[in-house]
Amino acid sequence: MADIKKNILLLPGDGIGPEIIEQAKKVLDEIKSNNLFDFSLETGYIGGAAYDKFEDPFPSETIENAKKADGILLGAVGGPEYDALPRDVRPEVGLLKIRKEFDFFANYRPALVFKELVGASSLKKHLVEELDILILRELTGDIYFGEPKGIKSINGSTAHYDTMIYSEAEISRIAHLGFQEAMKRGKRLCSVDKANVLETSVLWRKVVNDISNEYPEVILNHMYIDNATMQIIREPKQFDVILTGNMFGDILSDAASMLTGSIGMLPSASLNLERKGLYEPVHGSAPDIKNQDIANPLATILSLAMMFRFSFNQNSIAEKIELAVTKTLDQGFRTKDISDEDKFFGTNAIGDQVRNNFKNLIR
Ligand code: NAD
Repeated sequence: MADIKKNILLLPGDGIGPEIIEQAKKVLDEIKSNNLFDFSLETGYIGGAAYDKFEDPFPSETIENAKKADGILLGAVGGPEYDALPRDVRPEVGLLKIRKEFDFFANYRPALVFKELVGASSLKKHLVEELDILILRELTGDIYFGEPKGIKSINGSTAHYDTMIYSEAEISRIAHLGFQEAMKRGKRLCSVDKANVLETSVLWRKVVNDISNEYPEVILNHMYIDNATMQIIREPKQFDVILTGNMFGDILSDAASMLTGSIGMLPSASLNLERKGLYEPVHGSAPDIKNQDIANPLATILSLAMMFRFSFNQNSIAEKIELAVTKTLDQGFRTKDISDEDKFFGTNAIGDQVRNNFKNLIR
């Protein structure tokens, strides 16, 4: 039993969020009932679910709960029923605000191909076999947060605008993490930007180059985002760690999800300097498959494993959760999105199987 009790906050959110969080909770229940790790558990509201209750996608109750939490596991936010809402209360605002409020600037998105799922990738087997790359995306700056943004008139025509901006300090802290992660892995770092066109990217490249002097063992290369998008599909195994800004990382990591077979397989962690973290699957709320018991819960369960590794320093529990997922795939359990046959298992059945496998591993 660990000495210090940790607080975990579950934020199921919208769409398939509640269904997939329920599966991760099954693993948490096992951890609790077997006294593997001491934690308290709260459940709160974010996104559309929070808007429905509080008319606010990131209400003060959630802010207070999140302040107390050491790790936050989030399902997903958004849905067509909220599309007509004013921009400042849209579900996605809840997500942007929680990232900003707690300075979750470092977004880890591993893209790992499970050997059992090589056939589920849209790429040829030899291109994705044993693929293991890490996309490190800056999460609290760039065009998503840059000011000013708004609407104005240009020569009588309505124009909408955003501001792409990065400070040296913002680039520096994520770049250091990129080099440090590369040191733990294959010692190769690819920094992705658009320095041939964008001012922000010129600074990005300069800062990354300067910092590279502190990590002489890491082989650094730079790639333009358009080329990187092509290369990640053409020859993904050339990458080890990819370091990039908020918008480029958003797009690249969705592209990377198809290498792994399904967006339902990709976990993520967003950390601040204190290693408090927001953990969530990379995918959205998938309203098209909501409440049909077909959503893949594995990215969410793997995100929980990342919480135990990054925020709680519990590698052994993290590994067992990951092993329980691998075993489940090994045993032939597949949700619809990763099954190449007509036969597949439901969200709940997969969650139960992961829980059973986890239970056996901790015995
Ligand atoms: P999406 O990721 O929700 O869905 C894209 C496709 O992938 C859909 O066909 C969906 O059925 C499928 N899919 C996604 N997750 C899956 C899973 N676990 N298992 C099986 N299939 C899965 O993206 P979208 O359709 O562009 O967006 C839907 C809503 O989600 C929008 O409101 C959007 O704003 C929101 N969104 C939220 C987040 C987030 O909460 N982090 C991220 C992206 C999009």
